[in-house]
Amino acid sequence: MTYAKKTFGQNFLKDRVALEKIILAGEITPGEVILEIGPGRGALTKFLLGAGAQVVAVEIDPDMIEVLNETFESEITAGKLIIHQADVLETDITEFGLEQGSYKVIANIPYYITGMILRTFLESENQPSRMVLLVQKEVAERIVDGEEGGKKKGKRSSRTQQKENILSLSVKAFADVRYVTTVGAKSFSPAPRVDSAVIELSDISQDRLRDAGITSQDFFLVVKRGFAQKRKTLMNNLKQGGFDPVAIESALTNLEVDLRVRAEVLTLDQWLQLIKNLYKK
Ligand code: SAM
Repeated sequence: MTYAKKTFGQNFLKDRVALEKIILAGEITPGEVILEIGPGRGALTKFLLGAGAQVVAVEIDPDMIEVLNETFESEITAGKLIIHQADVLETDITEFGLEQGSYKVIANIPYYITGMILRTFLESENQPSRMVLLVQKEVAERIVDGEEGGKKKGKRSSRTQQKENILSLSVKAFADVRYVTTVGAKSFSPAPRVDSAVIELSDISQDRLRDAGITSQDFFLVVKRGFAQKRKTLMNNLKQGGFDPVAIESALTNLEVDLRVRAEVLTLDQWLQLIKNLYKK
């Protein structure tokens, strides 16, 4: 028996219902290629294979690789499961033949690299078509619900006014997002300190930015500067960020929003419009 290693964020999922919900959200068709990050002892891998997926798994821990090789010997021999021992963040996924839109990422990821995983795959030239990820509940809420993502008594809020943040916008610029389900800490062994949640990122592409005629560099630059100081208006943050005051005012006027608006109030579409106007020659 191998012990869970904290350094690798090892919390093994043992909840069958949660596993089934992940598979359902994955909308797997038989033969489809699924990249699983951190298969661990293979709880999710087993379900992915059961759904008929062709699984490519990247696991950093050699002890887990040993377990996986034993557990899935016949699937490995049949070519249904390919396991790579590697750090997913150091891996060039094109070496596995994974190209733009040709695969999905379905994983219970190590939480300490959630942000890096999102960035790596969403901003990649070889994006997956869909991602279904088990992440910390608070992070899931920040992505899907925005700034104040349900805080009270563990319930998700039903606010009508969405407030975005840098993380939610960075994900929504590339994908449609959905909160699938909450997964309590007790569903894992060992149990982490906080609850988790499954999120689904679908329709992943560069088109949202491309259609607006802006680069991802411009997008991230303006969004980061716009959110630089939470208490300041968007206008003041952008002015301090070096943008021309006349251009900012004209871009905000075009959006038909109050000039004293704060960054979190704008929707993704409004950001795209604003950035396009700011860079208009
Ligand atoms: N998928 C398993 C499950 O659901 O029970 C294990 C999930 S556990 C939260 C995260 C897994 O990711 C561990 O097996 C850990 O060794 C692996 N891992 C951690 N950092 C990694 C990295 N940089 N690249 C690849 N795998 C990593």
